[in-house]
Amino acid sequence: MANVRPPNVSEPRFLSALRELSSVVGASNVLTSDDRLRDYADPFTPQPQARHFAASAVVLPATAGEIREVLKIARAYRLPLWPVSTGRNFAYGGGAPRLTGSVVLDLKRMNRILEVDETLAYAVVEPGVTYFDLHAYLRRHGLKLWVDPAAAGWGSVVGNTLERGFGYTAYGDHAAHQCGMEVMLADGELVRTGMGAIEIGRAWQLYKAGFGPSYDTMFMQSNFGIVTKLGLWLMPRPDAYVIAHVKLPGEGDLEAAVETLRPLRLDETIRNHAVIEGAIRHAAGVSARSDWYDGAGPMPESAVAEIVRRLDIGRWNVHFAVYGAPDLVDLRFAAARRAFARLPGARIEANRYAADAEPAGGGEGNMAGVPAMSAFRMLDWRGGNGAHVDFSPICPFTGRDAMRQYSVAKARLAEYGFDYYGGFTAGERHLHHIVATIFDRDDPKQTDAAADLQRVLMSDARSEGYGVYRTHLATMDFAASQYDFNDGALLRMSETIKDALDPEGILAPGKSGIWPRVWRDKRGDI
Ligand code: ADP
Repeated sequence: MANVRPPNVSEPRFLSALRELSSVVGASNVLTSDDRLRDYADPFTPQPQARHFAASAVVLPATAGEIREVLKIARAYRLPLWPVSTGRNFAYGGGAPRLTGSVVLDLKRMNRILEVDETLAYAVVEPGVTYFDLHAYLRRHGLKLWVDPAAAGWGSVVGNTLERGFGYTAYGDHAAHQCGMEVMLADGELVRTGMGAIEIGRAWQLYKAGFGPSYDTMFMQSNFGIVTKLGLWLMPRPDAYVIAHVKLPGEGDLEAAVETLRPLRLDETIRNHAVIEGAIRHAAGVSARSDWYDGAGPMPESAVAEIVRRLDIGRWNVHFAVYGAPDLVDLRFAAARRAFARLPGARIEANRYAADAEPAGGGEGNMAGVPAMSAFRMLDWRGGNGAHVDFSPICPFTGRDAMRQYSVAKARLAEYGFDYYGGFTAGERHLHHIVATIFDRDDPKQTDAAADLQRVLMSDARSEGYGVYRTHLATMDFAASQYDFNDGALLRMSETIKDALDPEGILAPGKSGIWPRVWRDKRGDI
C-alpha cells in the first residue's frame, strides 16, 4: 500500500474505495504498491522531492462501461482521477498527476484499432494504441497510408493528439488532423462529437464540425472529459519523396533559414513540419558531450565549431521533405533547393525514396511515417542519469522572432550552466521552438537549476509577448497565469465550464492550470 492518499480522504475510506474499484476492474488492475506506482512517477522530475505529483493508486479499466463505474465511485468518495492514455508524456510529467494523491486512470488496456479506412484515409483508435501499433497495423495490412509519429514512437496516439503533440510529415500537426471523438464526461455521460452525434454517423471522421457548436478541441489539454475513442486522418502514402538536409555555417544564419523556409511552407512547396536544429542537438544524436567538451559551464562556441567541422554539419541544419508524384517531387525539390542555395555557404544534401522504401535513420524515418525511439539518445548527452524538461514557446514564423527567442534562451541557459539544445519545427505561420534542458537527475544542483530555469525562460518569453504551447506539471499554473488578457478571462471561462461539467471536481484537477471549485485552493501548490 502506498503511503500517499488522496487529499481529504481518510485511510479507511480510501481502502473502501479501493475495494470498490477492484470489484469493477479486478484486483490486479488496481495498483497500490510503491513498486508499481514508481512507473507513474514523473520520470524526469526537476522537483527533487519525490512527493511532488505522486499518485495514490492506479486503476486500469478495460471498457467505457468500466470507466463509468470508476467515475461513480470517484464521485462518491471525492477521489481526484488523472486520466492518461499510456502515460509517456515525458519531459512534461509522464504519467504523474498534477494534484498529489490523485488516482491515475490508465487507459492502456483499451488498445484496439477500431477502424482504418484506406479510401478515405482515416483511423479510429482507443487510448492505448501507440504510434508503433498503428504503424505496424498499416504495414501488416499492406495499406497505402502513413501515420505521423510523435518523436517517441512508443507514445499513445490519443495522448499525444490531446496534448497537441506534433510530428514531421505533412500531417505533423496532430491536433489539426484529428476528426471525431467519443468522450465520457465526469457524470458518466458518453458523448460523440461532430457527425458522430448521428447514431449511425457515416461521416464522423470526415467532417469535423457536425451541426451546431463543435467541441473536439475543448477536450485537448483540458480536464473536461475522458476521451475513449479518437479519429485521425492518415496521410496517403506518396509515390515518391525527397528528404533534404541544408547545412548553414553561421550562428546568425538562423534568421535567413527561417525567412527562406516560410514562403516555401506557405505556398506548400514544402508541406512537412520541417525542422531547423542547432549543431548541438544534431551532435547529441550521435555523440556525447564529453567527446567535445568537458569543462564547467556551457559549451563554448569553439567546441561547437569543432562539432560542425568534424561531423560535417551546419551550425544550423534545416531538414525538410517534399512528397508526391515523382515529377511533382522533382519540381518541388528544385524550387526549395534554389531558394536555399541563395544563402551564403549553404550546402544541400538530399535522399530520394520510392513509395515503399524506408529511410534508415530515426530522424528521416519520422519524415516518412516510421516511428522510432532515437530521440531518447539525447539523454546520454551529459552522462549520469540523463533527464530533460522542455521549454516550448510558440514563435512567429519570422527570422527576427526566431533569432530573438534563440538568443534570449541561449543566454539564460548559459547563465544556469546549460547548453542551448534546441530547434524549431515549422508549422504554417508559427514555429514550435523546443528548448530542452538536459540534466543529470542524480546531481541535485543541476536538477534544481533546471527547475528554476524553466520559470525564468517562461518569464523572459512572456515579457516579449510569447507563450508556451505545453508545459510540465510544475509550471502549468504559471503558464496559465501568463495567458492573462482581461485579468485572466480565458482561465475564468475554462473554470466556469469545468464546474458545470464536473461539479465534484474529480477529473484531473489542475490540468493546464484549470482547477475545479472544490480544489481551487490548491492552485500554485506543488
Ligand atoms: P503519451 O503516452 O502519448 O505521451 P499520455 O497518455 O501521457 O500521452 O497523455 C498525455 C496527457 O494527455 C495526460 O497527462 C492527460 O492530461 C491527457 N490525456 C491523455 N489521455 C487522455 C484521455 N484519454 N482523456 C483525457 N485526457 C487524456
